[in-house]
Amino acid sequence: MPQPTELSCWTCPTNELQLHRPLTEAQKIWLRAKIDETYVEHYWMCAKPGCRNVRTYMTERSFRGTPVKIPPGID
Ligand SMILES: [Zn+2]
Repeated sequence: MPQPTELSCWTCPTNELQLHRPLTEAQKIWLRAKIDETYVEHYWMCAKPGCRNVRTYMTERSFRGTPVKIPPGID
């Protein structure tokens, strides 16, 4: 599994890089249903408490500028 990595997060109120984590299996299941894609291995979640915004490694705003945030409790 990839290690957590620092990436920008456009929904966090700071320009600092934020730690992003690869998705857990439960988070992948949620995201597949949410965005109607079967392949979600390339997504990362912002680990800042209260954020949980999803992006790919290459694209900061991955969903046409609409934030997709994994709900609390799906870990
Ligand atoms: Zn964030």
